[in-house]
Amino acid sequence: MALLISIAALERGSVTLSGELTPDELGFDLRDPCFEAHQPLRYELTAQIMGPEVFVEGALSTVFRCQCVRCLAAFDLPMEIKPWACLIPILGEDALPLVNESVDLTPQIREDSLLALPQHPLCGPECPGPPKPRSDSSGPDGPSGQKPRITTAWSVLDTLNLE
Ligand SMILES: [Zn+2]
Repeated sequence: MALLISIAALERGSVTLSGELTPDELGFDLRDPCFEAHQPLRYELTAQIMGPEVFVEGALSTVFRCQCVRCLAAFDLPMEIKPWACLIPILGEDALPLVNESVDLTPQIREDSLLALPQHPLCGPECPGPPKPRSDSSGPDGPSGQKPRITTAWSVLDTLNLE
């Protein structure tokens, strides 16, 4: 079931909605392998007609299963969009098609939830990344490359002090 608000109900006044949408109902198309929607999305919304549009405001929340882009560990990422609001045109050229004489909020909720996801999910701000493979890169060479110069500088000072 999509999240529908009947126009007839809206014409009588504001409509309050709360409940859950499963990932299947939302139709998440998560092409990004870093994310998985496995929990329902909770919504608490109030909708009312404002001129040619339906104005919806409230809150959305869910938990995504993510894979950290650094260490590849799976972790839960809570998402809360509060306040959330949208305007759905029901009259005029921009009007969205009605479903059973109702406004369908599902596409808007899906889109805004996906926009709220981080581009590069991290399990934590301090994620150290994957366990380091033995480093035989130029890392240790940097400091040791400078050492002779430092030693020389000190040797020169020593010499000066002695004289
Ligand atoms: Zn991580």
